[in-house]
Amino acid sequence: METRLVTVDREHLRETMPAEAAELLREGELVAFPTETVYGLGGDALRPDAARRIYAAKGRPSDNPLIVHIADTDALPVLARDIPEGAWELAERFWPGPLTMILHKQPSVPDATTGGLPTVAIRMPSDPVAAMLIRESGVYIAAPSANASGRPSPTCAEHVYEDLQGRIPMIIDGGSVPIGLESTIVDLTGEIPLILRPGFITIEEIRSVLPTTEYDPAVIRRVKDDTIVARAPGMRYRHYAPKGELTIFEGDLAKVVARVQAEAEAKAAQGYRVAVLASEETKDRYHGLTVRSVGDREEEATVATHLFATLREFDRMGAEYIFGESFPEAGVGQAVMNRLMKAAGYRIVEV
Ligand code: AMP
Ligand code: MG
Repeated sequence: METRLVTVDREHLRETMPAEAAELLREGELVAFPTETVYGLGGDALRPDAARRIYAAKGRPSDNPLIVHIADTDALPVLARDIPEGAWELAERFWPGPLTMILHKQPSVPDATTGGLPTVAIRMPSDPVAAMLIRESGVYIAAPSANASGRPSPTCAEHVYEDLQGRIPMIIDGGSVPIGLESTIVDLTGEIPLILRPGFITIEEIRSVLPTTEYDPAVIRRVKDDTIVARAPGMRYRHYAPKGELTIFEGDLAKVVARVQAEAEAKAAQGYRVAVLASEETKDRYHGLTVRSVGDREEEATVATHLFATLREFDRMGAEYIFGESFPEAGVGQAVMNRLMKAAGYRIVEV
């Protein structure tokens, strides 16, 4: 299959959106498109055949459910039932935006989309390209991140092409995404709201609307512990991982830099291809090593934006060992460290 890469002009969306994208979705075919979080791989959420195509294209286990993207809150009761008042309050405050809600599904949502679960994940993206695609196609779009399963999520169209070229008919190129991490997922089907995946919208922000919100215990663990089972199936899989072995060091920053320098030098001396994941503040403190800054410690959002692209860059360099700094876990830092620890397979060293 030939993959068409179509670039849209955000200043002239109506004129540059390919009409074929909406048609493909209506036919049950797949289209990759930008959202404000990461690129999504979309298909008709109400068609089991489209969901199966998504799993096949990504090489994703079919028990890992998809998020359904909508363009209007009117779609909520079409897809979900027994919607608690809190869901409407979160929608009012955070939609359109990087928040996904887990609700009890309506029978019209096929098991193929929800991975057999009785619940459905729903989000209203704020990216105008995504919103227009949902509206023009008239389809609720089931879309996981548009990467090959296990790889870092795509933050630009080139990443999607790298992973899915030849496997899907179309990629809409809307440039680099602004957020760079997947949405915050809140489960509203239990006694209290639970965050199943941290994202750009923080627990403090969710609590400002629903004060009893807690993290799913699997989200905040810091060690590989198979006795704590994540409630979001996708959080159970090996994920975001670069091809090289990534180790994260945490503690006093000066000591971290010294330790990363030493560990990286030692591996380089053995003849391995080595890279360092650093920050704007520290990148010039390393010597004789391949160093990439992932962002500015003072502005955590910049780390979020560049994290996945940086992990992919390490793959392109053929890095066999990657030594990385850790970042403060406040605000969006919680989501950054969640992804980084998973990428590192929980190889975290205290210095
Ligand atoms: P992705 O779109 O790649 O970010 O993956 C979607 C994420 O949402 C995965 O981690 C899924 O496990 C999670 N998810 C989707 N539907 C549900 C659901 N009904 N219950 C819990 N987690 C879900
Ligand atoms: Mg994903």
